[in-house]
Amino acid sequence: MKYKMTSYIGGQWIKPQKEEVMDLIDPATGTKFGEIFMSGEYEAKEAIRVANDAKQVWWELGHTMRKNIMYKLAKLIEENKDDFAEIESKNQGMPKAYVYDDIDFITENIKKTLELATHLTGSVYDLEPYVRSYNVVKPIGVCVVIAPWNFPLVVGLQGIIPALAAGNTVVFKPSEFTPLSAIKLFELIDNAGFPKGVVNLVVGDGYHVGSHLTESPLVDKITFTGSTKTGGSVLKASVNNFKSVNLELGGKNPFVVFEDADFDAAIANCVAAVTTNSGQLCVSSERLIVENSIKEKFVTSLAKAFSEIRLGRGSDSSTEIGPMVNKSHFDRVMEYISHGIKTNQKLVYGGKKAVFEDDELNGGYFIEPTIFVDIDTNSKLWKEEIFGPVAVVKGFDTLDEAVLLANDTDYGLSSGIFTEDRIKADYVADKIEAGIVWVNCYYAGSEGAHVMGWKNSGQAYQGGLRGLKAYTKEKLINIKK
Ligand code: NDP
Repeated sequence: MKYKMTSYIGGQWIKPQKEEVMDLIDPATGTKFGEIFMSGEYEAKEAIRVANDAKQVWWELGHTMRKNIMYKLAKLIEENKDDFAEIESKNQGMPKAYVYDDIDFITENIKKTLELATHLTGSVYDLEPYVRSYNVVKPIGVCVVIAPWNFPLVVGLQGIIPALAAGNTVVFKPSEFTPLSAIKLFELIDNAGFPKGVVNLVVGDGYHVGSHLTESPLVDKITFTGSTKTGGSVLKASVNNFKSVNLELGGKNPFVVFEDADFDAAIANCVAAVTTNSGQLCVSSERLIVENSIKEKFVTSLAKAFSEIRLGRGSDSSTEIGPMVNKSHFDRVMEYISHGIKTNQKLVYGGKKAVFEDDELNGGYFIEPTIFVDIDTNSKLWKEEIFGPVAVVKGFDTLDEAVLLANDTDYGLSSGIFTEDRIKADYVADKIEAGIVWVNCYYAGSEGAHVMGWKNSGQAYQGGLRGLKAYTKEKLINIKK
């Protein structure tokens, strides 16, 4: 299949000017299934221009009209969930079940964010006889949303939804590697009734499109999700007109297990923490910090659980984990494993490309879930985000040693603690330097809560009312009485 009309700008599908084409490869088989036309500087600048022109129109439409259009979009997304599951499993490689969960999250998130938007109210200060002061809440303006390839649809919409709900216009750039769910999304956006120019899509790479989006003086806000390195470049590019910037970056998240933990629950959570989306998840855990008294038993049980995981095509309903997203990421993760082996780190499970009876899958980018134990904390396997199903284990004896190991990272995105002792849990949760701490429930969360990465994992809040407010600015008006 050849995707030519890949940018949606000002309410129209556009064929990129330069006609540069990229192959689309199925990561489960390594075979080409299509080509896509890539946009460049012209389309990036054009999308910003129309988004800037549409600012007033979208804001002046008012909350109720915006809500009606966005509710329609939520309905269309829900009605098209099978297509999204098909597309995402083919393009990204993820199991379809993840996509169905994401669609539920997205449709709920659209509705909840629009409810929260009714709380974007100002305040009145009527304290003096000669003046009345009031703050009003306004949208920021043109928001650029840049997404990575690991959860293409949900991560993109986590920026697009609050931006639109708060009355901003949007230019969205998905990863060049996973643009197909975005193209499907914008087909639905085209039918939902948005005024022209309010939401725009530019499919292209970071160099030819991303940099023009982040540098433009017409852009008021950037929501970037991706690696810490690229996040730094985005922040630098934003300073020319002091844009507001949300950064959701990488992680090297600790999973701390005490001997008094509910063992089976800790194992089950650890399997999910390491292998969900084949470890291609910013909040997955790659550093397992386990009390020495149970370390051997824990590692043996984890290896057994890993051996029972079904790898396969995302489109196969029995698949639990899919392939790496592409060849270059597969090579990158395998290089970390080779480095571990070459530097005498103790590999106890996995460490190889997965082999299948179905020969077609042997051309795919599958990696066995992998465990190294007693890792050297100077190793790059301990320090760097691998973004694959590779866990390194380190033992500890005391509470403070566990905390020191957990915090021995430049990142601070998320963390997990497993213990039945509430006082211990509370102590460690308080000391851990991370934006999220999960105690006995990795990946669980409550509606309305907001998060922020600490240290090199990001800046600005995401989620809930606090996250929504990041897409607004306030004005103080003083009127003489
Ligand atoms: P990258 O940082 O490589 O890319 C992210 C996005 O930025 C892509 O769309 C990319 O475009 C674009 N980009 C690249 N260079 C520039 C530039 N100079 N200016 C503007 N945009 C640019 O990340 P990955 O796609 O490899 O995603 C994996 C990373 O994302 C991991 O580090 C992971 O932890 C992080 N992540 C963080 C999350 C969080 O919420 N904290 C959630 C999900 C992932 P292109 O690829 O098309 O060139």
